[in-house]
This record gives sequence, C-alpha cells and structure tokens, in this order.
Amino acid sequence: MAGEPQDDCLFCKIVAGTIPATIVRETETTVAFRDINPQAPTHVLVIPKAHYPDAAALAAAAPELAADVLRETGAVAEDEKLDSYRIVFNTGTGAGQTVFHTHAHVLGGRGLQWPPG
Ligand code: 5GP
Ligand code: ZN
Repeated sequence: MAGEPQDDCLFCKIVAGTIPATIVRETETTVAFRDINPQAPTHVLVIPKAHYPDAAALAAAAPELAADVLRETGAVAEDEKLDSYRIVFNTGTGAGQTVFHTHAHVLGGRGLQWPPG
C-alpha cells in the first residue's frame, strides 16, 4: 500500500533506525540527515518517513506530507545558516535518482552553477 515501509528500501531502514545516519532534524512525519557522499559543504537529505518512490508520487498521494518535506528543507537551510541553496528532487534513473524513496537534497555552502548540467 502507498506509504507503507518497504523491506528493500535503504531510506525506510534509516527511518526505522536499522541503518545509521547522521540525523540533523526529525519531525513526526520527516527525517533530515547528512548525505553519505556530500556534494557541497551542506548536503542534507530530507525524506518523508512514509515510503513514496519519488516526489511526484508523494505530491499526488499525500500533498500535506510533501509540504512537510518542503518546510523542512527551509528549516535545514536556516539551521545551516544558508542564504543561498538548492533543493533537488532527482526523479528517474536518467536524472540520477538512485534511491527510490522520495528525498529532497538540500545543497549549499558553496557557489552553485546554473544550469546544473
Ligand atoms: P539520488 O541519487 O537518488 O538523488 O540520491 C541518493 C543520495 O543518497 C545520494 O546522494 C547518496 O550519496 C545518498 N546515500 C546513499 N546511500 C546512503 C546511506 O546509506 N546513507 C546516507 N546518509 N546517504 C546515502
Ligand atoms: Zn522507503
């Protein structure tokens, strides 16, 4: 069922605490943790605790939860004292998505090129 934990999902395991992560923020519905392979001085992933494979699926099935994730990206930026930052939802393998549990990348602390390539 949509939103249910998936046994083979890395980020569901982080939510469950069976895989460790450096958690920087947690709410009733979301977790934010540092990316294991940071691409910027700040590289935090914000995820819903519930499993949805990508941002579009999350927004379609649970728009309030999508709003929770977005709100938390702003909270991470504030905690990290970022005045400029980028929020990225890679969607689909062709766009670089490797973990199919919705996650917002919050990237900042260095200059960010646009377009990203
Ligand atoms: P994607 O490529 O799907 O947009 O992003 C997945 C992100 O998850 C990558 O930036 C990758 O470095 C990160 N990642 C993969 N495995 C782990 C892990 O076990 N722990 C943490 N903290 N991040 C991970
Ligand atoms: Zn999951």
